[in-house]
Amino acid sequence: MSSSGFASQNGAGGTYANGPSSNPVALYPSNQGYMAPPQPTYLNSTLAKAPTPPGPNSNRLQPSPVGMSQHSPQQPASPNHRPVLTAASQSSPTPPNSYYQHPQQPPSWHYGGAPPPAANHVSSALGPPPQQPSATYSSGASTPPVFQNNMQPVGPAPPYSSLSSVAMPAPPALNFVAPQTHPPYGIPPTAMRGTPPPPATGVQPPPPHAYHNDAGPYSSQPGQMNRPMGTAYPSLQPTAYQSMPGMQKSPHIQPTAQLYQQPSVGMAQLSPSLAALNLQSETPEALRVVNLLQERNLLPPGMVTAPTPCLPQDLQKINCSPEVFRCTLTSIPQTQALLNKAKLPLGLLLHPFKDLSQLPVVTSSNIVRCRSCRTYINPFVSFMDQRKWKCNLCYRVNDVPEEFMYNPVSRSYGTPHKRPEVQNATIEFIAPSEYMLRPPQPAAYLFLLDVSHNAVETGYLDVVCQTLLENLDVLPGDARTKIGFITFDSTVHFYNLQEGLSQPQMLIVSDIEDVFIPTPDSLSVNLKEGKELVQDLLKSLPQMFSKTMETQSALGPALQAAFKLLSPTGGRMSVFQTQLPTVGAGALKPREESGQKASAKDVLHLAPATDFYKKLALDCSGQHIAVDLFLLSAQYCDLSSLGCMSRYSAGSVHYYPSYHKLHNPSQTECFQKDLKRYLTRKIGFEAVMRIRCTKGLSIHTFHGNFFVRSTDLLSLPNVNPDAGFAVQMSIDENLLDMQAVSFQAALLYTSSKGERRIRVHTLCLPVVNSLSDIFAGADVQAITCLLASMAVDRSVSASLSDARDALTNAAIDSLTSYRTSVLTIQQPGLLIPVCLRLFPLYILALLKHKAFRTGTSARLDERVFAMCQLKYQPLAYLMLMIHPALYRVDDLTDEGALNIDERTIPQPRTLQLSVEKLSRDAAFLMDNGTVIYLWIGRNCSPAFITQVLGVQSYAAIPQNMTQLPELDTAESSRTRAFIDWLRERRPFYPTLHIIRDESQLKADFMQNMIEDRTESALSYYEFLLHLQQQVSK
Ligand SMILES: [Zn+2]
Repeated sequence: MSSSGFASQNGAGGTYANGPSSNPVALYPSNQGYMAPPQPTYLNSTLAKAPTPPGPNSNRLQPSPVGMSQHSPQQPASPNHRPVLTAASQSSPTPPNSYYQHPQQPPSWHYGGAPPPAANHVSSALGPPPQQPSATYSSGASTPPVFQNNMQPVGPAPPYSSLSSVAMPAPPALNFVAPQTHPPYGIPPTAMRGTPPPPATGVQPPPPHAYHNDAGPYSSQPGQMNRPMGTAYPSLQPTAYQSMPGMQKSPHIQPTAQLYQQPSVGMAQLSPSLAALNLQSETPEALRVVNLLQERNLLPPGMVTAPTPCLPQDLQKINCSPEVFRCTLTSIPQTQALLNKAKLPLGLLLHPFKDLSQLPVVTSSNIVRCRSCRTYINPFVSFMDQRKWKCNLCYRVNDVPEEFMYNPVSRSYGTPHKRPEVQNATIEFIAPSEYMLRPPQPAAYLFLLDVSHNAVETGYLDVVCQTLLENLDVLPGDARTKIGFITFDSTVHFYNLQEGLSQPQMLIVSDIEDVFIPTPDSLSVNLKEGKELVQDLLKSLPQMFSKTMETQSALGPALQAAFKLLSPTGGRMSVFQTQLPTVGAGALKPREESGQKASAKDVLHLAPATDFYKKLALDCSGQHIAVDLFLLSAQYCDLSSLGCMSRYSAGSVHYYPSYHKLHNPSQTECFQKDLKRYLTRKIGFEAVMRIRCTKGLSIHTFHGNFFVRSTDLLSLPNVNPDAGFAVQMSIDENLLDMQAVSFQAALLYTSSKGERRIRVHTLCLPVVNSLSDIFAGADVQAITCLLASMAVDRSVSASLSDARDALTNAAIDSLTSYRTSVLTIQQPGLLIPVCLRLFPLYILALLKHKAFRTGTSARLDERVFAMCQLKYQPLAYLMLMIHPALYRVDDLTDEGALNIDERTIPQPRTLQLSVEKLSRDAAFLMDNGTVIYLWIGRNCSPAFITQVLGVQSYAAIPQNMTQLPELDTAESSRTRAFIDWLRERRPFYPTLHIIRDESQLKADFMQNMIEDRTESALSYYEFLLHLQQQVSK
């Protein structure tokens, strides 16, 4: 490594040293109380070697040039792994692992302006879905140098007392908890989003009409939503624009109706675009420059919310909810060149079948769609006059059908723009017969249960049978619902459940090389008719195998049999597996090497060992069968191979890595609750989803569980409300003269009641032509989630270290672009616009996420499962898994609490994920999406311990406490209300672990302290310094 890099870093160090003088406020409003002995902390490393963050007593802590020179390359490199980040001798200025296209380089992950290779996306029936980018990635010929510094791992923290000798400021104890004591440089609450705040956090914007949740009558008030935008007729409402609220803000803003009426004519007269005007007038805050090296308290007190696109208010009000449909850039660049310059990824994140509290449903014999591109009529089309509407995706002018002239909401004629289809960005249609290839099939459920010795030993069978028994009557379906069971060990067992039998009949097929279905008609039966036999079977199954000594697993043959059984109808296959399949087709061998667990930089075997499970999934997909996998095992099961059965059939994967009925009761509880949700949640069968976008934009890579049937069509044998999707996009044609572009996702499915339905979501976003506008509209959470999906693909197609480098470079690239192309005044520091201020933190969180972390022990299956989740979870749940939430909970109050259904739910402030935020005399709750930890400090007030935990003292807290007692105290109710509320906000049940210093789980808890340094990973501050060094080059 040349020293030139460090010269610039020293320069940066000098720059940095200016920080404290301009910032008289403490960077760390930390209490010094708690240092976890085995966990090196940011503070520790700071005090030991690292450059010191500015603080009020910066005269003591201010870094000197000497301090910075400690980073010099002459120092021995840390023995620990350091991420390989950039190449010093690299000929190209683009880091080797970039997600973005360099002007002189062929596209890497980015598809540039070129259309995607068709072969990759227009898949034939058995072709591979475009899970891996086809463009080859050039990883750079030179060996990238290793980022070095001598900030040695701190090792064991200094003794507790040593901290007191450090002259740190003594801020008011725990002031970080109290929202009213924000440091003055903290982000004020209003700065959390770039544009005017959406109406309410985490709540679907209320549709203007209160529709029944199903195809019931409309109960809306006609005239309630007098929205002249987009759909107004100039001839009918010529003066309506004058009174629009959005119009008053800027006299320059053109009435949108006119824009939509005449998109090409008259555009030239519009000087700066509508969106740009909006940006200028409304969103200076999004672009406020933050110096990350100085501002530490960047987390908003509550949830991070999606930015609001800069659209006129009335369009904004009606736009698709960000919970359903989000774009990484809420302002779309006009050209691919501009997008390339921004170095931010462009893509959509969807949660298309999310449970919605309000969903307008329309029954219509004639669903109005564009004759050219088949877009569904939506709020963002324009009406040329009463009889003509212009498509907002391809601009074709279409006729308004006669029946559309009648408005069922107002029961009036001649107001097509007030139809629910044109008033709701999310709407569902009951489809007429032309949307069916065959009559809608009954809901069909098939359960495949591992009954080997290993499986029986875990005790899972009791839970499955019991939960299914309790929920048989609420399985989604109707009178036609079908159900069947297959069990397997070294052979495959079927159950004859035909009506008239006195008890279920077990049929064993021992020829696993060529499995046949003994009596096809009586193995998958009508649930209503065969209910008693099904109940008998569920009651007796756990006992039937209780004495089994059979250790083999013929999962593959069982799957082949299940496929044959479900093929006529399609449906859902639920597979419960507890070990590596050992015999018959699809048998697997252990691949996890014991050494690999320890500290490999690159992890092997992330790709499947066989294509058996993928092929099976594609066969299933062709027959409208989805395969859901429940993996319950403490041993290696090769999830990267098994997971393919769900991935390509649009199923889901659930993993309980240490499942045992007796040894791990909390996981049993979790499994039980998850299973109930799984069995009773909404389900759609025979589904396809198509994503369309305005001409000029194109979709090129999908992420999630599905099979790509054609360029924009995903085959989803099942769709469930907990599935998320992401797509990457590029700009093929310049979007000149366009004020806005639209994206439409249409999900066609058969409901469990046998209705063919179409759920349509339409998102409208402004087009901008300046880099600063693009940055101002960046959605940092959406960007993070899209990058996470891309990094999973990269880990499998290239390597884990490659993916990690690319993640880091994503942050470096966009920060560099911002610094060189947007900032007009160069200032010292690591500068970022407010809207992206959490980007480096989230990237660091991804690097420390179970999917991508290195240097620490991680079971291969757990890593692969984490990767599955990154690709499949909807954004809201994913963000919690990437960046957990930390709260102080021993001083909960009703101040600022939510009131939901007469329950008072405290809203503590979210804290930075750093040990320095912990205090021994308090209690903290950490929520990482799947697990909630309640950590009790050693000196936590006895009142909290008795009134919430119900034990007499800290020492009396049981080791494996997983439930809070229901005590009749205000503290108990508040704490339980808060935890219940957190749990209600996600579909699957997070377990609660109450831990103290001695608990085994403390290491897991501490692993989520993303901002702290670990033996193998940088602290947040060190990471920022690294970024700064790269950005300043
Ligand atoms: Zn069209």
